[in-house]
Amino acid sequence: MKKILVTGGAGFLGSHLCERLLNDGNEVICLDNYFTGQKKNVVHLINNPCFELVRHDVTMPYLIEVDEIYNLACPASPIHYQYNPIKTIKTSVAGAINMLGLAKRINAKILQASTSEVYGDPQVHPQPESYWGNVNPIGTRACYDEGKRCAESLFINYHKQNNVKIKIIRIFNTYGPRMHPNDGRVVSNFIVQALKGKDISIYGDGKQTRSFQYVDDLTEGMIRLMNSPDNFIRPVNVGNPDEFTMIELANKVIQLTGSKSKIIYEPLPADDPLHRRPDITLARTKLGWEPTINLDEGLQRTIDFFKTIV
Ligand code: NAD
Ligand code: UDP
Repeated sequence: MKKILVTGGAGFLGSHLCERLLNDGNEVICLDNYFTGQKKNVVHLINNPCFELVRHDVTMPYLIEVDEIYNLACPASPIHYQYNPIKTIKTSVAGAINMLGLAKRINAKILQASTSEVYGDPQVHPQPESYWGNVNPIGTRACYDEGKRCAESLFINYHKQNNVKIKIIRIFNTYGPRMHPNDGRVVSNFIVQALKGKDISIYGDGKQTRSFQYVDDLTEGMIRLMNSPDNFIRPVNVGNPDEFTMIELANKVIQLTGSKSKIIYEPLPADDPLHRRPDITLARTKLGWEPTINLDEGLQRTIDFFKTIV
C-alpha cells in the first residue's frame, strides 16, 4: 500500500483519481481549497478509512510524509482561471514550488498535471511533445498557459538540480461525470443547455477543433505515467486523438440527449486555439496507453450524470 497525496483532489479529475487510487488499495490524502472543487465530489469516499480530506491552499507550504504526489491543484476552465489571474499564476508556480520542495524533502515521486495549453494556439498539428508551442504571454489565457509552462520548467530543474523524481503529463481536453455544471467548458455547457432545452452556444464559427478524452482514460494514463521508470522524465501527451469541430460536438449532444435545442453563434473568446489534437506516440510506446472510450460512449455516460443534477 502506498501513501499518496492528491492536490486538487476534490475537483473533477482529482476526485476520479482519488477514487481509483483507493480502489487500487492505496492510502489517499486529498488536499483542496475548494475554489472550484467541491466536497460532494468526494463525499462517497469519506467513510473509507484509507481516505483523508484536508482543506489547504497549495500556495502555502504543506508538510506530510507520502510516497507519491499528484499535483492537480489549479482551476482549469477558462472562466475559472481568468476569474483571478494572479491567483492562478500563484497556484501554478508557488504551488509547484511548494509541492516540489515537499517531494525533495521526503524523497517522494511527484507528477504534474500539465496541459495541452502549453502549446497555445498551435502551429504544428497534431501536437507532439517536441513542439514548443505558440503562447501569447500577455493574453487572457496566459495566466494559465504561462503558469503551467513555468511549472514544467520548475519540475525539470528540481530534477536536474535536486534529483527529484518527476513526471509531467500534458492533459488534453477531458470530460466526464463531476464536471462542474457552471465551469463554462464546452462539453458541460452543451449538455446542460441541451437538457434544459436552451440554445446551444457555439463560440465563433464552430469550425475550431478539440480532441475530447473521457476521464477514465486519463486516470489510467496518469497512473501508468506515475508508475513508469524513474529515469523516464519527459512530458507525455495524454488525450484522445479523435478530433471534432464544435459544430460536430453540438450535433452529437443534441442527438444523444434527444433535445430540441437550436444552435446559436456567439463571439469567439480572445486567443481561442483553432485546432488541438495530441500526437500520442510517446504514451503508446512508453506507457502502452491509448484511449478506450469513444466520444459517443463517453458523452452518454456524462449526459446520464448531468441528468441527475440539472
Ligand atoms: P477542477 O477545477 O475541477 O479541479 C481543480 C481543483 O484544484 C479544484 O478542486 C480546486 O478547488 C483546486 N484548487 C484550485 N486552486 C487551488 C489552490 N490554490 N490550493 C488547493 N487547491 C486548489 O479542474 P480539473 O479539470 O479537475 O483539472 C485538474 C487539473 O488538471 C488542473 O491542474 C488542470 O490544469 C489540469 N488539466 C485539466 C484538463 C481538463 O480538461 N479537465 C486539461 C488539462 C489540464
Ligand atoms: N466553446 C463553445 N461554446 C461554449 C463553450 C466553449 O463553442 O459554450 C468553445 C470554445 O470557444 C473553444 C472550445 O469550445 O473553442 C473548447 O472550449 P473549452 O473552454 O471547453 O476548452 P479549451 O478552450 O480550454 O480547450
